[in-house]
Amino acid sequence: MIANNPHCVTERVVNTVCAHNCGGRSRLACTVRNGVLVRVEPAPAPDDTYTGLCVRCLTLPQWVYSKERIRTPMRRIGPRGSRQFIPVSWDEALDEIVDRFSALIRTHGSSSIAFVRSTSGSPIASYTRLAALLGGGGTSNFYGGVDMAVHMGLNSTFGDKGMYGQHSNEWTDRLNSRLTIVWGHNPAETAMTAMRHLLNARDAGCEVVVIDPRYSATAVHANWWIAPRPGSDLPLALGLLHVLIREGWIDRPFLIEHSCAPFLVRVDNGKYLRGSDLSPSARSTLQVWDEAQGRAVDLNAATAPALEGRFAVGDIPVATAFTLLSELVSTYTPAHVAELTDLAAADIFDLARAFAQAKPAQIGLGYGVDRYKHSELFSRAAAAIAIVTGNVGKPGAGIGVQSHYHGSHPARLGPGPELPKWASTRPVPMIEVGRRELPVRAVFCQGDWINQRMGDMNVSLHYLKQLDFVVTVDHFFQTTTDWSDIILPACTFLEDTSPTRDALVFGNSIYLRTKVIDPVGEARTDFEIERDLANRFGLGEWFQGTSEDVVRRQIDGARDRAFSNVSYDKVVQAGGAMRLDVPTTPHVQYADLIFTTKSGRAEFYCEELAELGEALPVFVPDHEALPAHPLAERYPLVLVQTHARQRAHSTFFNTSWTLEVWPEPTLEMNPDDARERGLANGDMGEAYNGRGHVVAKVVCNPDFPPGMCNITEGWKQQQYADGNVQELTNSEINAGQTLIWGHANIPFFDTRVEIRPAAPAVRGTRP
Ligand code: SF4
Repeated sequence: MIANNPHCVTERVVNTVCAHNCGGRSRLACTVRNGVLVRVEPAPAPDDTYTGLCVRCLTLPQWVYSKERIRTPMRRIGPRGSRQFIPVSWDEALDEIVDRFSALIRTHGSSSIAFVRSTSGSPIASYTRLAALLGGGGTSNFYGGVDMAVHMGLNSTFGDKGMYGQHSNEWTDRLNSRLTIVWGHNPAETAMTAMRHLLNARDAGCEVVVIDPRYSATAVHANWWIAPRPGSDLPLALGLLHVLIREGWIDRPFLIEHSCAPFLVRVDNGKYLRGSDLSPSARSTLQVWDEAQGRAVDLNAATAPALEGRFAVGDIPVATAFTLLSELVSTYTPAHVAELTDLAAADIFDLARAFAQAKPAQIGLGYGVDRYKHSELFSRAAAAIAIVTGNVGKPGAGIGVQSHYHGSHPARLGPGPELPKWASTRPVPMIEVGRRELPVRAVFCQGDWINQRMGDMNVSLHYLKQLDFVVTVDHFFQTTTDWSDIILPACTFLEDTSPTRDALVFGNSIYLRTKVIDPVGEARTDFEIERDLANRFGLGEWFQGTSEDVVRRQIDGARDRAFSNVSYDKVVQAGGAMRLDVPTTPHVQYADLIFTTKSGRAEFYCEELAELGEALPVFVPDHEALPAHPLAERYPLVLVQTHARQRAHSTFFNTSWTLEVWPEPTLEMNPDDARERGLANGDMGEAYNGRGHVVAKVVCNPDFPPGMCNITEGWKQQQYADGNVQELTNSEINAGQTLIWGHANIPFFDTRVEIRPAAPAVRGTRP
């Protein structure tokens, strides 16, 4: 529209979709005046449930034009880490990348080049195509990092594959729940646009139970707040299972018909008993004990499978999976779990009873329970709670990570650009980077992975220092750019040269991310940077067309029934967003009670982990956060990094409105812990352990229990007075995760520290 203001040449409102990795995909109405983004407001979503915006995105105009913005390609001129760069032209920067990468590939092979990407890019341009094609395929791909362990546990239980698999019912389905456990999740600060659904459910009579060691902003709104000791979620889950099973508060039909509970397990090796164990000519069908026939039979041949019991089949001793689970949890009495969790035994019993009696009940997990060494065992135990009570596949029930990205009706876009069959990458788990010998000599980085996705930062930086060449594509100067040789300025999701940047399915709708403003400075889109590099490497044939062409192909080529009435042109005509052809009732995951595990059932027993003794979700008390850990005496405080309300991970670290309220990193701790260490509110404290240190302003916060402290994640190196919270964090590798999934989650919260007053020399040395 043309505004009345005589000083204003043009003013228009462009709708697009937020790209930040908070888990939401809010639709944004962006006011652009004279080509400059000046205001962001919520735009209506096709499914009104998803209309909304959080305060963070109100600061997008400050974010996009931030003084930290990289506006031209840069080349390093001082030592790595010195932050000494000079501007260079795009041609110079891209030619240097091509020359250096090509020389390394000639000498050391394509695996000498690694790609690592962040969520800041576009889904159709995250350098995956270039990585797969470069050097004839086989470049190294640093992948994974954090926020995967709870998914691993849920994937093994329900059979999904992806690290961010969708397990939970839609957020709005909480209205159908009689009790919902919000476990290690704080949507009031991290998934703000989804929090209203929790409040709506509570107001409609759903009992909201928050399990969190600290009195979080979400706990404030709960009917019941339960505060276990940090890292003790797994014994709490086992204690709840103990009560549920002991009291008989279980759903026997569900267990027998839809779970692994009746499967016979060989006591000698922990594997499921199969027909082929009994006769070499028999099929490898799972066996159950048929009470009608008094013998082991194929699962499909049983008329009355036994839920419980130990038996001998020939000379093989067996037990049902449910019996093994019952025996495992038999020692986790409320009294014992009370000792392990610092909770009252009566609360553990009462919570189990409330969960059993509320039908249906559900469990929503957050990433607060993801960042311990054995978080996959925890999520398997939590899933077992849902399974034994039959709270799976029903409205108001279920278990899953309650990121607000997931949960709505699933629908799949069509394929993107084709690649030749030989195109591939060589996966390298992020947690192993810098910790084992790798063939990598150069890294192409998208975003600030060193600060956000790596623990034990001094090891990571040592790794970066010894590389031959580091390239980073980013919007802002951040920690990884400090250690780079070439920096390329990328467009944010608001900038483009093409009208359509990418498309996404979210909230029962299809959305286009559209161009809002022209690129800032000399920034180019990731789509263009990847294509420009590919052309220089002689790979241009695979990068024909525009981002709009790719999106058109994805939408028009979608085979999913949800797209039956959708085309790219229709979405454009509809203003960039359309509701998909999906049911109007909230999505219920596993409503068909078909699971993609090998058995087709929900499996709380994981036979592949029998060799490690983790076929059941056992409590392995060997991780750093627990009080019995050898480091506990020297470093008595557990350091966590909660998600900050003012940032989505690190995004918005640099916007003036948020910095006005939260100007610098703070070290939150219980006032008694602070007093014991001679610290008071506002003092500079130094948190340290054998890995590193960080200096930050102490905030005495009674919401944190004694023994726990916090620095919110996402602050940048230049914002700390000294050190970095990631210098302190743990990178211990979990063997079970590696065995099953090929990589391990970084256990950021398994970090112990001690805190002392900061030496005057380092107080406030950085602004
Ligand atoms: S940061 Fe998240 S909640 Fe906030 S506007 Fe963007 S998508 Fe929505």
